Amino acid sequence: MVASKIAIFLDRDGTIIADKNYLKDPNGVELLPGVSDAISSLKLAKCMLFLFSNQSGIGRRIISMDDVSRCNLRMMELLGHGSNIFDAICIAPESPDDISVYRKPSPRFIVEMIKKFDLSKENCYMVGDKESDILAGINAQINAILIVADGGTKTSFLPHQENKSTRVFPSLLEFSKWLLGETSSGTQK
Ligand SMILES: [Mg+2]
Repeated sequence: MVASKIAIFLDRDGTIIADKNYLKDPNGVELLPGVSDAISSLKLAKCMLFLFSNQSGIGRRIISMDDVSRCNLRMMELLGHGSNIFDAICIAPESPDDISVYRKPSPRFIVEMIKKFDLSKENCYMVGDKESDILAGINAQINAILIVADGGTKTSFLPHQENKSTRVFPSLLEFSKWLLGETSSGTQK
């Protein structure tokens, strides 16, 4: 089994749910394949889960924080683990032109949570589908996991990152299987 206090920082769009630009309508929330099983097994293994999402649509005044919150609630409803599934949520509202505070690749949220919950960096994972997710993980000096569902075209930036803790998986489910040791022990479903 997994050692205690594994913490996973999850990007939202393109990692947990389908990436629809500036999602506003909760009815448009669509879990990606296998995500439900992945989250369930991570929760069962007592992993801490954090939601860490850039939402520049707020800074651009295309959507509101309320829109994002309603979509998050719908996502949590679909995941079926209640509205306390995440130990903390960070929505970074800045547009790329704003001064970046929490917006990835800023590691600020991760660094704050590591301090708040006394986490060890080697047990922390930033999981996302964009370079900014990987860079946030690297900047926080934790493991960085890239989810690539389109055959690897988005991994071109990876060779430039000198971080042996960076790994690529085709889905959140495959990452969770790897993390929980199911793949190596041959007990995956
Ligand atoms: Mg994303």
